[in-house]
Amino acid sequence: MASMSITEPPPPPHFIIVPLAAQGHTIPLVDLARLLAERGARASIVTTPVNAARLRGVADLAGRAKLPFEIVEIPFPPAADTSLPPGVENVDQIRDVSLFLPFFYALRNLAGPLEAYLHALPRRPSCIITDWCNSWTAVVARRVSIPRLFFHGPSCFYSLCDINVDAHGLHKQGDNEKYVVPGMPVLVEVTMATKPGFFNEPGWEALQREAMEAMRTADGAVVNTFLDLEDEFIACYEATLGKPIWTLGPFCLYNRDVEAMSSRGDKPAVAQSAITTWLDTMDTDSVIYVSFGSIARKFPKQLFEVGHGLEDSGKPFIWVVKESDVATIEVQEWMSALEARTAGRGLVVRGWAPQLAILSHRAVGGFVTHCGWNSMLEAITHGVPLVTWPHFADQFLNERLAVDVLGVGVPIGVTMPAMPGTLTDDNDVLVARADVARTVSALMSGSEEAEERRTKAKAFGEKARRAMEKGGSSYENLTHLIDSFTLQ
Ligand code: UDP
Repeated sequence: MASMSITEPPPPPHFIIVPLAAQGHTIPLVDLARLLAERGARASIVTTPVNAARLRGVADLAGRAKLPFEIVEIPFPPAADTSLPPGVENVDQIRDVSLFLPFFYALRNLAGPLEAYLHALPRRPSCIITDWCNSWTAVVARRVSIPRLFFHGPSCFYSLCDINVDAHGLHKQGDNEKYVVPGMPVLVEVTMATKPGFFNEPGWEALQREAMEAMRTADGAVVNTFLDLEDEFIACYEATLGKPIWTLGPFCLYNRDVEAMSSRGDKPAVAQSAITTWLDTMDTDSVIYVSFGSIARKFPKQLFEVGHGLEDSGKPFIWVVKESDVATIEVQEWMSALEARTAGRGLVVRGWAPQLAILSHRAVGGFVTHCGWNSMLEAITHGVPLVTWPHFADQFLNERLAVDVLGVGVPIGVTMPAMPGTLTDDNDVLVARADVARTVSALMSGSEEAEERRTKAKAFGEKARRAMEKGGSSYENLTHLIDSFTLQ
């Protein structure tokens, strides 16, 4: 009898994933890691102890599901600038704005421990996926000889604006201080204050240059978006970048049950069950959810305007406030009085909220958002239209996408950034209570425009779900990504 040769199946590809230590950057990559693991690849998230501790709930769930997913801890490096307090390992822990730069410089020193970990692995990993801000990973990937994909957090609409402005500058549009972003398939106007770009402030030039260079030298990019949301911008971005773009989102749809949705990012400050019980008593699409992400902060005068605006709107609301924003006795007393006046129709969460679980509840019919890309995409994925209140970085362009292109947003009307550290309680209140009440009422109303926004948001939600199902664009792109890193 002729002997048959038995071919071993190829080992699953091993993805090393290095998020930036900021909630809006880590959360999507942890979702992506679990999507990869669920589809048979091995996924290792590399992070530092404080951030690893926050991922314990996620790691437990992945362990129970027997996913080939792991959290790898490397020590946070001592900063050359000793002003960085010990234990500060995430952007959301930084209270003093002057510490952002030392923090980012400290992160560069993770290169050594990451390289040591990669060298110690018994088999060379297949690919490293790193946040675009972690430009220090470029040299590590080169030294270990593995392909590197960068993860650019925002939409392709934003990334295309960014890359075009970097290459060609902005075109002046008359004398009214509006500028046209060149190379866009639709008209996109910005001002100098709202133009694209992270790290635009003085002192950040070197980091910005390094980040752009690391994107230029990468082997491709993964993006948390989907074809039916922004196909023409994806195509233009890929052509302009000149390398493959893998659109694999919305990553948040990895989380299919309330437990998974509530374990993202951090431990919620209020039990999910309490929020769900409250939402269950509300009519469908009746509640406005209000949250400004993990970084943007509110001084008391601005906070009061938000609260009064919600009260004046007369709509049921869930409002997430940061503990540091309600730390003083004066603000706490004001907040308690507001809660008493709006009892039964208002819920204030102090601290981390289970956002995805809230947005996915049938009772939530609108979202006042700072237009962080994750928040926006999570809302659209669940068919929730937006009141847009951008604060900084990509958020003004995300607003343009939501309002002008997708038709799912009502702008609250801000024209100036509110960078952490640039505002104080004594200068600008950028949004007055009347603007909050007016836009919330408009969004939640039964007017023709409101119905149209709602219909569009729900249609995008449907398309998002289809993109992630077998045969959908993101599902098939993920198959292709895994296949292309599987040794034959
Ligand atoms: N988030 C959350 N609970 C909170 C605040 C934020 O779960 O109380 C999550 C939110 O769902 C999103 C991420 O944190 O996934 C924030 O990312 P985004 O890009 O919206 O904003 P950033 O925090 O980066 O400004």
